[in-house]
Amino acid sequence: MPRKVRSDRMTLTRRDITELLARHGLEPSRALGQNFLADPNTVRRIVRLACIDASSNVVEIGPGVGSLTTELAATGANVVAVELDRHLLPVLAETVEPLGVRVVHGDALEIDWGEVLSADKQWHLVANLPYNVATTIVLDLLDDVPQIETMLVMVQREVGERLAASAGDGAYGIPSVKLSLWATASIAARIPATVFIPQPRVESVMVRIERRSAPVVSVDHDSLMDIVRTAFGQRRKMLRRSLSSKVTTEQFEAAGIDPSERPERLDVVQWGALTAAVLAGA
Ligand code: SAM
Repeated sequence: MPRKVRSDRMTLTRRDITELLARHGLEPSRALGQNFLADPNTVRRIVRLACIDASSNVVEIGPGVGSLTTELAATGANVVAVELDRHLLPVLAETVEPLGVRVVHGDALEIDWGEVLSADKQWHLVANLPYNVATTIVLDLLDDVPQIETMLVMVQREVGERLAASAGDGAYGIPSVKLSLWATASIAARIPATVFIPQPRVESVMVRIERRSAPVVSVDHDSLMDIVRTAFGQRRKMLRRSLSSKVTTEQFEAAGIDPSERPERLDVVQWGALTAAVLAGA
């Protein structure tokens, strides 16, 4: 006889997940980045790191079968979970909807977030993200969904290191600059592959992201990112070479930037100064 998941014990075990998948005739989809958390201790650790309580509004992207969602709901927080895979909806109806979680069927890259997350509340994203689209999801939410104030997200280690890198770090690049326009980021934990079903072939980290009260530079972000992309397109070259078509010697001088620097040495404030000089036509 198939065993129903018991509502008196919230966190899903490896056995629960295997049984749920089998009973619903499902196999984890690689294309959708489905690596389900199957270790209650890790799930509880993530929720502790998220620092949420009954007064919090939490959004999860990709609840899967509900491993993390059940523990988020156990804090008493208001939880909304957005899942793309319609085959998982009957599972979530069993595991998390009875706990009061609002499950929304949708694509995190396309959904109208204004409709899903009321703008008069502050939201916390807590999620084990689909790794292939994790950077895009994080950066798009920072750009477009100001009501999300903090994020604690599981991503592939290299992606996490890029998001959290500071100027001068080896991992510093385009996503690091884009993130730092809006937020600060740090690695909060390293997570072993053994806690997932199936085990991913890559290493994983949790990244904590905190939105700044205001963007750190006031210049037009599209113009800034255009200059950043051009410079990092030839990251080993000096800025005077990689930006020769966009920035004049006078503009480097006006911004106080040494044109013999390489792009990984400039922090977001310096990129802002360079962009301001270019826009001013110095
Ligand atoms: N949170 C669950 C856990 O930790 O066990 C599952 C995490 S799994 C790494 C990623 C989840 O994101 C899967 O459930 C997958 O179906 C879902 N997903 C993939 N792409 C998505 C998208 N664009 N929008 C929303 N969910 C997506």
